[in-house]
Amino acid sequence: MLNLFLSWVKKLAMAATACMVTVASAIVLTGCPAGGEHKKKNAGKANVLINIDSASLINYLAYLSSAKMAGRETGTPGNQLARDYIVNVFDSLQIGKVSNTYLQSFPVGNDGHQGNNIIGLIKGHQFENNYIVITAHYDHLGTRNGNIYYGADDNASGTAALLAMARYFKQYPPKHSILFVAFDAEEKGLLGSKYFITHAPVPISAMAANVNMDMVSRNDSNEIYASGTRHYPFLKKYVDSIRPYSPVNVLFGHDGEKAGMHDWTNQSDHFPFHQNQIPYLYFGVEDHADYHRPGDTFDKVNKSFYYRVCTMITGVASLLDRPDILQ
Ligand SMILES: [Zn+2]
Repeated sequence: MLNLFLSWVKKLAMAATACMVTVASAIVLTGCPAGGEHKKKNAGKANVLINIDSASLINYLAYLSSAKMAGRETGTPGNQLARDYIVNVFDSLQIGKVSNTYLQSFPVGNDGHQGNNIIGLIKGHQFENNYIVITAHYDHLGTRNGNIYYGADDNASGTAALLAMARYFKQYPPKHSILFVAFDAEEKGLLGSKYFITHAPVPISAMAANVNMDMVSRNDSNEIYASGTRHYPFLKKYVDSIRPYSPVNVLFGHDGEKAGMHDWTNQSDHFPFHQNQIPYLYFGVEDHADYHRPGDTFDKVNKSFYYRVCTMITGVASLLDRPDILQ
């Protein structure tokens, strides 16, 4: 296993140079996503250089999708192990909190069971009271009839990406505050994200945008969707600015735009944000043969695709934080 990791890390490190995303200013910003606080005087040439830590990313994914987690079903010991791990990573990265704990507990069902969202905060150095909310659910389906549903793609991949992005933005401090929220109980009906929105730790009017990741690590055609732009067309330009520099094909859709295409608007944790008029971008791949099956395992993740996707999403998030460099 270790050898496999090392060889991936080496390959990814070699690929990293090619995957750096440089975005030169190109587009005029008219619809400021962060409540109009931005001043055009800062507009001008600037670059966003994205280089996320591939070794950490893959290690996060390997651990969260391991048999030890037993499928991470809400309310199980495996789910708690995943939660402890995420909290430890936040702690070791010195990610901030919105209260005295990273955890936000909420009821699941009527029999006293609880779920736990995990909320980290990096305060913005310029627009502290405006928030970009980066989200991914960490729960999955657990173990059924003795079979572990590992959920490597769904959604250890989004969770590990969220941790890698927290690491990145800790290193490259954002202008806006960023909330990193690992949701629980998505698989039970978006329970964590619904609770988060109705018990928001910051005013929802201060949430500029939600970037949600759910299944971001597997696709045979090198494709991923940035869904939600039919509802929020102004977000298209952030993705379009990254696309020419991204070695993955980023497609729009699954938001009701094209007839016959499954509408993902209410299919993951971005939905409660959308219901509250908070603009969202949802990143996810098309369903694959192992979707919600025990075969959704770490070994089937396409690691270089996954790394490229995470780099691209981090680039989009960086632009959301820096709309002044779009012109
Ligand atoms: Zn999912």
